[in-house]
Amino acid sequence: MIRIAIDGPGGAGKSTIAKLVGNKLGLEYIDTGAMYRAIGLKLDREGIKPDDIISIRNMLEETAIDFVNGRIILDGVDVSDVIRTQEISKLASIYSQVPEVRSKLIDIQRRIATGKGVIMDGRDIGTNVLTDAELKIFLTADPMVRARRRYDELTAKGVKTILDDIYEEIKDRDYQDMNRKLNPLVQAEDAAMVDTSDMTIDEVVNTIVSMATRVSCRE
Ligand code: C5P
Repeated sequence: MIRIAIDGPGGAGKSTIAKLVGNKLGLEYIDTGAMYRAIGLKLDREGIKPDDIISIRNMLEETAIDFVNGRIILDGVDVSDVIRTQEISKLASIYSQVPEVRSKLIDIQRRIATGKGVIMDGRDIGTNVLTDAELKIFLTADPMVRARRRYDELTAKGVKTILDDIYEEIKDRDYQDMNRKLNPLVQAEDAAMVDTSDMTIDEVVNTIVSMATRVSCRE
């Protein structure tokens, strides 16, 4: 049984890579960013502001978040597709700074990962959620490369965007995620850095699968 923690900035390819590595190694994939996005979506829909801690607490008590077959389920509804917008990215980054939100989601993440092989991606997995993970990866890429990938993804879907706007949003989100007080994005001391700027998806997947195989052989 191996638990792999993948952290890194937005757009580094974490979820694409984690899904593929998870499939190859038979590990359950847990996308913690999707959980923060789902909470961002609900708080926004209910018009609750990030500083309204009482309302946030009440809302969290009445909220159920789960993964079923890799889909994120918020209060019984599959929100996997509606959370993939630039707007929700921003909201997730803002509401993820609220301690109550983090502690609820971290509890769920640890519970899901108990007693089984998982690959979990996010910002604080190796440094906080699964500090004893058998393998920790810090996946990163140059901000312009990340912006270009996101731009290509949106363009392929027929969404009209401007590369420079995406680049600015990526830099803003990096800043927020790296400079928040609670569980900021930082490379864990025992994490291996993989810079994907000049790598293909296959190369990244193979690199991580080899690392995982080496770790499993040592266990
Ligand atoms: O990974 P993704 O881009 O979907 O994450 C959306 C936002 O959720 C991030 O920008 C970050 O602010 C927050 N997040 C977090 N901790 C995690 C995962 C995501 O704070 N473990």
